[in-house]
Amino acid sequence: MPPLPPDASQLNILNKSERKLIEHALRTRNEHFETLFMQAPLGIALIDSLTGQILEVNPRFAQIAGRSMAAMASIDWLQITHPDDVQADLDNMALLNAGKISGFQMEKRYLHPDGTAVWIDMTIAPLKVEDKCHPRHLCMIQDITQRKAADSTIAHLNRVYAMLSGINALIVRVGDRETLYNKACHIAVQAGGFRMAMICVVDKPTQQIVPMATTGKNNLLLSDIKHILSSPVDAPRTMVARAIREKAAIVSNDSQHDARVLFGQQYAASGVRSQVVLPLLVADEAVGVLALYASEIGFFQTDELALLTELASDIAFAIDHIGKREQLHYLAYYDALTGLANRSLFLERVAQYMRSAVSTGHTLALLLLDVERFKNINDSLGWPTGDALLKQVALWLTQSTGDANLLARIDADHFALVMPEVSQVGDLARLVEKTLETFLEHPFRLNDAVFRIAAKVGVALFPDDAADADTLFRNAEAALKKAKTSGDRYLFHTKKMTAAVASKLTLENQLRQALDNAEFVLHYQPKINLVSGKVTSAEALIRWNDPRTGLVPPGKFIPILEETGLIYEVGRWALRQAIEDYLRWRSAGLNAVRIAVNVSPLQLRHRGFTAEIAQLIGVDAQAAAGLELEITESLIMEDVTHSITSLQAIRAMGISVAIDDFGTGFSSLSYLAKLPVDTLKIDRSFIIDMTARPEGLALVSTIIDLAHSLKLKVVAEGVETDEQSRLLRLLNCDEMQGFLFSKPVPGDVFETQFLALTGAAPN
Ligand code: C2E
Ligand code: MG
Ligand code: MG
Repeated sequence: MPPLPPDASQLNILNKSERKLIEHALRTRNEHFETLFMQAPLGIALIDSLTGQILEVNPRFAQIAGRSMAAMASIDWLQITHPDDVQADLDNMALLNAGKISGFQMEKRYLHPDGTAVWIDMTIAPLKVEDKCHPRHLCMIQDITQRKAADSTIAHLNRVYAMLSGINALIVRVGDRETLYNKACHIAVQAGGFRMAMICVVDKPTQQIVPMATTGKNNLLLSDIKHILSSPVDAPRTMVARAIREKAAIVSNDSQHDARVLFGQQYAASGVRSQVVLPLLVADEAVGVLALYASEIGFFQTDELALLTELASDIAFAIDHIGKREQLHYLAYYDALTGLANRSLFLERVAQYMRSAVSTGHTLALLLLDVERFKNINDSLGWPTGDALLKQVALWLTQSTGDANLLARIDADHFALVMPEVSQVGDLARLVEKTLETFLEHPFRLNDAVFRIAAKVGVALFPDDAADADTLFRNAEAALKKAKTSGDRYLFHTKKMTAAVASKLTLENQLRQALDNAEFVLHYQPKINLVSGKVTSAEALIRWNDPRTGLVPPGKFIPILEETGLIYEVGRWALRQAIEDYLRWRSAGLNAVRIAVNVSPLQLRHRGFTAEIAQLIGVDAQAAAGLELEITESLIMEDVTHSITSLQAIRAMGISVAIDDFGTGFSSLSYLAKLPVDTLKIDRSFIIDMTARPEGLALVSTIIDLAHSLKLKVVAEGVETDEQSRLLRLLNCDEMQGFLFSKPVPGDVFETQFLALTGAAPN
């Protein structure tokens, strides 16, 4: 670098040769600076600090700005600056001109004439010059476009790496598909910084693509996607379908302007600018896709795609792994032939049911079923036929129980069933009997022939027979073994239980016979008018005349008749018998009174009941006038609407209706007013209470007043003492029934004792 030249004033005092020397030095120095300016690899410009106008640029500056030196001469900086960066530039200039900063540096973009942007690093510093009127700034720029691109690639890749590591950590611990799908989408958005993520799978049977999990998508967009994917016509047009078909990633790096992107506008509104759909490949088959949506245009470049493809294959691996684990689990816990649980899963389930039986106090039953003749069929018709039979048995059992989870195949021809809640052991025995019967009736089709197959059953109960699932199972096995040798079709583990069940079943059979052998009889108990003391009507009370033990009261057998459904027939018999007796008394010229017959809840609930009553009274025009039905209060309340309709129909036939055992049910007074009934019978417990406590008396008094206000006749049940009778008379009760006047007596006794005595005109 030459020594600094003296200034102009100094030149005047120098001699000629000295001046020449100095002028030469100055020229050389100017040339030096000119060369530096023109050849600097840095873009340099002089700008007017007031207007910001570019006064002079070097070639590198023009090159970075994408323009010729000539073009630069007439260009305004605003013209070449990216609109998004103008404000920051203006702000910095304002600070500089106000003297608040001594210079500044910023990264900004210039726009080339073709619209492409270059990133520049710009430094501006004021120049100290003599011309104070035209202060100038020195502006130096460097092209940093490449560095910027590398920065954004690194940032993108970092996001993808973060997502990759999050999802891989998930894959290691996840146990089910649903969690995998949901969490993977979540991680893509949270750690990957994507706008949205979605996982779809191909439903094998229908080949439909179904979205399984999404993050970031609004409901409207999601329902549009679901809709299009379910349309056989439109679904193949989607990028998702293409990715599956082509087993390759489908990329749209400017989704807003990409015709292949359906719902492009919706995506744009949600800030999506590019998207990729990656197939999830398991054994070279696309089982689904992972779709990712970025907010940047051009996000998915080669490096990102390489990583994302790796990620998709990790997810596919996880799907495959979960599938295999499920298969393994299936083999470990299920019987491959029938699809039912195997012994170990069954015992696990039984143990679980036992725990809840303990807390609820229920009885649990474990039943083992042995298919008879199986070995025979298997040996003679071959294994495939044997297998077919077992499958059919499994299907039959599943349909009969309605829940395959309660069943298991234990070994070759042994099936197991757990009944988690047994309310009555008698019911259970009946159910087993019935099931074995229908099983035997079922036509099993094997090799175009029909087979009837019998089965044997062993039953063990919890908590009675064992404290744990294993023991319970072994006890059921023992019971089954015994049944197989003893000739019984089924056996309970404990003798006592088998005996109890047997006696109940014997009773049931005896009751069936009782019906056939006409062993049921009706006894009649008179109802007395409390004022006149005359017999006004009678209640028919059924008894079973057991040839072995004598008269059996209804409390002992009505529940069994109801359990077995025999009540319909016996109830019909009682009605027919009462009508017959009434008509007979009538035609014998006796003063026959109306007979009240008790009706079971099951009868009234039966939809054909009113038709049946109509048929029964159809035998004689006078029959309806001789009949009353007693229906217990609680029963009416169980199904009020149906009860009201039935009772109206019954009363329309001329039959009267009484509410029995009033006070024991849950009658609401508002309903009582609506019920189409004639009589209210106060339950015996209130009559007892009446003389025991003052409140009891008040209560009976209220019931009577209430009934009267509703125009109902009141009958007091179970009147045993004179005092009760006296009080009832005082309370204006209409009638009474009870041992005080008479116990229920056989029909002929009633006929001779009471009908002759009434002296009243026939009803
Ligand atoms: P219920 O309809 O309330 O019949 C009254 C019961 O009280 C009868 O018992 C009767 O013998 C008894 N009773 C009458 N007066 C007195 C008394 O002063 N003191 C005492 N301690 N008891 C008295 P029963 O005959 O044993 O009948 C019991 C229940 O069996 C009846 O109660 C009724 O609900 C039902 N029942 C009777 N016959 C039939 C029938 O044919 N069909 C249906 N479904 N149920 C019937
Ligand atoms: Mg009754
Ligand atoms: Mg009663």
